[in-house]
Amino acid sequence: MKLLHRERNIVLKRRYSFRIALLFPSTYEASISSLGYQILYYYLNNFEDVFAERVVARDKELLSIETGTPLKKFDVILATAHYELDYIELVRAILRAGIEPLSERRNSPPLIIGGPSITAWPYPMSRIADAAFLGEFEASGREFVNTLFSLDKYNKKPFIEELTSVKGFWHPSKEKKEIVRVRDLDSSFHPIAQIQSEDAEPVWGRSYMAEISRGCNWGCLFCLESAVSGVRRERSFSVLKNLIEKGVEANDVDKVTFFSLSFFDTDLGERILNLLIEMGLKGSVPSIRIETLSDERAELIKKIGQKTVAIAPETGKDDLRWKIGKRIDSQQIFNAVSYLAKHDLSVKLYYMFGLPGEKKEDLDNIVEQVKEIKKIIGSRNKIKVSANPFIPKPLTPLWKYEMLPLRELKERANYLRSSLSQYAEVEIYEPRMARKQYEINIKGVDADIMIIGEAMKNLERDE
Ligand code: SF4
Repeated sequence: MKLLHRERNIVLKRRYSFRIALLFPSTYEASISSLGYQILYYYLNNFEDVFAERVVARDKELLSIETGTPLKKFDVILATAHYELDYIELVRAILRAGIEPLSERRNSPPLIIGGPSITAWPYPMSRIADAAFLGEFEASGREFVNTLFSLDKYNKKPFIEELTSVKGFWHPSKEKKEIVRVRDLDSSFHPIAQIQSEDAEPVWGRSYMAEISRGCNWGCLFCLESAVSGVRRERSFSVLKNLIEKGVEANDVDKVTFFSLSFFDTDLGERILNLLIEMGLKGSVPSIRIETLSDERAELIKKIGQKTVAIAPETGKDDLRWKIGKRIDSQQIFNAVSYLAKHDLSVKLYYMFGLPGEKKEDLDNIVEQVKEIKKIIGSRNKIKVSANPFIPKPLTPLWKYEMLPLRELKERANYLRSSLSQYAEVEIYEPRMARKQYEINIKGVDADIMIIGEAMKNLERDE
């Protein structure tokens, strides 16, 4: 058997009833950095009847990592999409694997798709996938496995009918869309052993990935993640302690990467960082909500060996920031940066441009703010700015606004790049790609032509 990747903690099975391909839309490095993908992998493999194998869309060959099985040969394909452009990558993978992309023309294997953008708005993939999954998979995972017994290689209809009767699974024939979520994270599955690659590194280096919480209560009006994941739920300290102790050992690592939309919302974040320090471990925290940062918390972040902290002012002017639901004022931003500066930490700042009602002076305010931040932090080398075109996302209150035309976005992007680069290292997400995400959503059920067309254009691209 040809091995695509050398890894530890891989699952192999001799006896099982169903083989599921977990199709990841991006590169292998991204797949081993995705905690959600690993949760799905180990969660499904906990069921005796199921053998779930990983297939990575941007691998040279569309074969499973575990057994080298072609994508076409699986009983079911479960595909994950993190945002709209992933649909194109997934369809490209399906085409490369010799599978018919349109649901009505394909009998086997059935294709089910899930992920944040699908949960918010499943329509663009509704003629391609046989069903969409909306929400957190573990909430309906057991019922999903039960439906596999109705699989028939020559007729997928009974399976799809049974599947879409399960909460969270959706097909255009079903009127009601229902997002399902896990209520209690403590009793929800979390993998201890995780994939550790011998020849590739996850984006944050080798570590144990630990999920602290899901959901977010801050209610920013543009935020897809919080709209999709709902109210905040966190794991308890004792459960996390147990996971970390076992996780670092099972993965032979000395670092923990934390996942949370709002890490310091309660004192759990501090307690966990103190635990890491006691255990002599390194760590990495996600982007921090600005008003939850303090001198003490910045010190803890420094002590776990993190060098840069990401915060998201979103825009430069207070009234525009408040209008998009981020109720933070400039002074709070400067305070947060001064805590980071005191502990010799660098800062990564996330901004958006092209917001509803944004004027030229709002862009100048971003530049002024970054200039001020540079004064506080002391050096251009310690500031990174990531500026992204505002994309109205379904399920969020700002979906009702139109996205700016491409030409206008490009002008604003160029203005920001040239004005900011003297104060910070600047990366700007390409307006063309941002518009594409929006257009896929706007086209809704008719997006299949665009998605398949784009996938075919890229078919010859080398991996
Ligand atoms: S704080 Fe962050 S995760 Fe929470 S709603 Fe606002 S942008 Fe979203």
